[in-house]
Amino acid sequence: MKKRIAIIGAGISSLLAYSKATDSKIFSNFPWPSSVNPNQHHALDFIQSYSHHFDFLMHIKFNTKVVGIEYGVSDEELRSWRLWNGDGTPFTSQGKWKIVAEDILNHSTEVYQVDFVILCVGKLGDVPNIPKFPPNNEPEAFHGKVIPSMEYAALDYESVAEFVKGKRSTVFGFQKSALDIGMECTGANEKFYAKVDEGSIILKKSPSFNFCEEVILVNGETAPLKADLVILATGFAGEKMLKGIFVSPTFQDFILGSSKEAIPVQGSGSSPNS
Ligand SMILES: Cc1cc2nc3c(=O)[nH]c(=O)nc-3n(C[C@H](O)[C@H](O)[C@H](O)COP(=O)(O)OP(=O)(O)OC[C@H]3O[C@@H](n4cnc5c(N)ncnc54)[C@H](O)[C@@H]3O)c2cc1C
Repeated sequence: MKKRIAIIGAGISSLLAYSKATDSKIFSNFPWPSSVNPNQHHALDFIQSYSHHFDFLMHIKFNTKVVGIEYGVSDEELRSWRLWNGDGTPFTSQGKWKIVAEDILNHSTEVYQVDFVILCVGKLGDVPNIPKFPPNNEPEAFHGKVIPSMEYAALDYESVAEFVKGKRSTVFGFQKSALDIGMECTGANEKFYAKVDEGSIILKKSPSFNFCEEVILVNGETAPLKADLVILATGFAGEKMLKGIFVSPTFQDFILGSSKEAIPVQGSGSSPNS
């Protein structure tokens, strides 16, 4: 009998999962053009042509958020298992997954019953990782604006230019998002290191920082940092997003138990000033 599989998410992993689940060799039939050294636009074009070519889009329900996943077995029974389903098999007649999905446009919900669920919801989205601050030194204490990197990334090019124009911007974090945003704030693009040399981008390493009314106190720095805009490129709390999807406390425990493998906090600080 045919099994029903739900793939949650519409990123690159879900394409791969679909390819595996349907046993298609579609990626090998649609190779990356070898002449292209890809940037993000090439990658997006490739994924879009790929999806159109294989009619992948007709299998996706867009604008739908999965808000609950439950397995059709009690928590008590789940906890008594040493192997999945008690015997290590992926499918049983009792073990159906119930998926509650919300249409984000009209807020209606629909319930699906499936035999297998593949989670492709990404680790880098939805829930930003905001560092902990002492009371009175939280972002709310600061008179300027503080936003997580994912809010910044959601702005279009014109809005970003307007948003950062004439502002002293500080970016916390030292990985890809932080460096990309640092470059954008200065309009540096390819001239990142030249801007560092001339001092319009200042990189500082610090274990922590705190907010005050007009300034930011960067641990290890004697002078407070004046800023109008702070962008927290401090990673994502993927495990919190996953925990929120599972209804059963047992599954929530399983997810939190693996939280060590989640995206780490990007602890060092950088402060590009425009
Ligand atoms: C700012 C930024 C810059 C990056 N730059 C690069 C780069 O230059 N090069 C590179 O190789 N990688 C880059 N990455 C990493 C790359 O984006 C990820 O590795 C890749 O997108 C992971 O693919 P994925 O399919 O696992 O997850 P994602 O692409 O994150 O897709 C997850 C999907 O799940 C959906 N989803 C989540 N929760 C639910 C839910 N409850 N219900 C329904 N759907 C849900 C989301 O809407 C999304 O469609 C970058 C990431 C970020 C955040």
